[in-house]
Amino acid sequence: MTKKILLVEDEKTLVRALAFNLEKEGFEVDVAYDGEEALGKIEQEEPDLIVLDLMLPKVDGYEVCRAVRKTSEVPIIMLTARDEDIDKILGLELGADDYITKPFNARELLARIRAIFRRTAQHEALAKKIIRMGSLEVDLVKHKVVLKGREIPLTSREYALLSFLVSNAGRVFTRGQLLEQVWGFDYCGDARTVDVHIRHLREKLEENPADPRMILTVWGTGYKFREG
Ligand code: CA
Repeated sequence: MTKKILLVEDEKTLVRALAFNLEKEGFEVDVAYDGEEALGKIEQEEPDLIVLDLMLPKVDGYEVCRAVRKTSEVPIIMLTARDEDIDKILGLELGADDYITKPFNARELLARIRAIFRRTAQHEALAKKIIRMGSLEVDLVKHKVVLKGREIPLTSREYALLSFLVSNAGRVFTRGQLLEQVWGFDYCGDARTVDVHIRHLREKLEENPADPRMILTVWGTGYKFREG
């Protein structure tokens, strides 16, 4: 997907040169020439990254950065003069992701932009929290279960039981422990409730529910999800 970059800078020749270079690299570029215009565009167009000059008409870069950070984690690269207080720019007060000191060339800026997009891509992959066990995928964020590429509809309790077992694959749980963990302390059911849900999960997920390969019975103890 094309990444959208908002350039905020009032020096029009610099803006034109940067926009030209970023577009050449395949980015979608939008421009704001003062802080007020920037805040409007950030809200309306939700850019993937902001290149923000400190010295701007109307609302300066500090104020824009502070305002954005109240509601958004969008990466911000600050354009600064040599004598700027870098600790303040990158610190908690402003929370910019990176800075670049003027004068700079487009290639330097591109390298910083690419580095930030690489980092955010890594974070996104980690934040997705998908557990894969053979041909089974459990998406812990979307509460979605996919088996051999097909989404399997589960009740919320079936999902809760499966995701708990999968998250603790290889560990054996008694029916009592599963009741506590999945149904909660104040649930007034008995161990057979667990058995019924395990049976339903096996019917939905196992090739042969009578000979399960994923959700295993540990005789005399309880259940476990196969390891690895
Ligand atoms: Ca400026």
